[in-house]
Amino acid sequence: MLLLCLESSCDETAAAVVRDGREVLSNIIASQVDVHARYGGVVPELASRKHLEAMPVVIEDALERAGIGIEAIEGIAVTRGPGLVGALLVALATGKALAFARDIPWVGVHHIEGHALAIQLEQEVTYPFVALIVSGGHTHLYLVEGVGHYRILGRTLDDAAGEAYDKVAKLLGLGYPGGAVVDRLAAEGDPESIVFPRPLLHQDNLDFSFSGIKTAVLNYVKKQSSEISGSHLNDLAAGFQRAAVEVLTAKSLRALKATGLRRLVVAGGVACNRGLRQSLQQAAREGEFEVFFPTPLLCTDNAAMLAVAADAYLSQGHRSALDLNALAGWPLDRAGDEFLFSSI
Ligand code: ATP
Ligand code: MG
Ligand code: FE
Repeated sequence: MLLLCLESSCDETAAAVVRDGREVLSNIIASQVDVHARYGGVVPELASRKHLEAMPVVIEDALERAGIGIEAIEGIAVTRGPGLVGALLVALATGKALAFARDIPWVGVHHIEGHALAIQLEQEVTYPFVALIVSGGHTHLYLVEGVGHYRILGRTLDDAAGEAYDKVAKLLGLGYPGGAVVDRLAAEGDPESIVFPRPLLHQDNLDFSFSGIKTAVLNYVKKQSSEISGSHLNDLAAGFQRAAVEVLTAKSLRALKATGLRRLVVAGGVACNRGLRQSLQQAAREGEFEVFFPTPLLCTDNAAMLAVAADAYLSQGHRSALDLNALAGWPLDRAGDEFLFSSI
């Protein structure tokens, strides 16, 4: 099935054409980062307006790159939630309109379901597996039993990992979003020179806490008499990254042990992080499990990632109704409810 996928949950407007939930013919992403950077975070009203402008452009671009016209599209997938409701509505309304006008089926997909299954566009990972979702809004461990079947194993009690990266970058004056910058600086630093706390590391659960690490960085910065730069900045970034990565690695291993599974999928923007990749790859070699990371373009927000679940739902005959609404908050374990269980 040839799907057009649309995503506008936060600050990326994205469109993709994907065949059979597998073959990515195009994956276009228009980022609004420049628009929001000066405010140090995403401004919801601005995001909605920018999505409205960018959506027709990314759709045309996606069709052109795929070398097809809209008449070849057999189904539509959009992000239904979670996210900023005004932003979500842009992809949702566009998808409904296209589906109605062309009389083709459409389906609303969970954004995190997209992140968790994106790896299937590149290599086949057998279900069930453990998914570590590390993004701007999530730091969650899930048991993924199949499309539509997700069980939460653990989650952050406060900030998400990406949020902590962004806050640390902001307080160091490194701009927004700053995860990738901190990652780059950390690569040149000594991770043991400044030691930050590892919250919940030794607690017998699968939960995370990142706000304490961020506060420890803030307190450290406040205590300095001069601005942090050069190798001192590298060491600070490396120390923060080591603390975050150590906790993410330890809890992932604990989740594998608790479920008895030997496959770990890492997804979301922080899955781009080189420190996290190295740490989990080493743990996988030592612990004899497999770890899967999508390529960076499929880790951060994109529309192609929606195709895996959407293709499965549509192929099984499921369709979303035209009065389907966006969901700003939507736990992943309820993602398949519309089709698989009772209606939500
Ligand atoms: P969610 O998916 O939870 O709704 P989101 O869509 O905003 O949130 P993503 O686009 O998946 O999140 O990821 C963006 C986050 O990833 C940002 O916080 C960004 O700083 C972080 N990030 C991107 N690259 C890196 C990196 N190399 N190291 C650490 N963090 C990174
Ligand atoms: Mg984003
Ligand atoms: Fe995301």
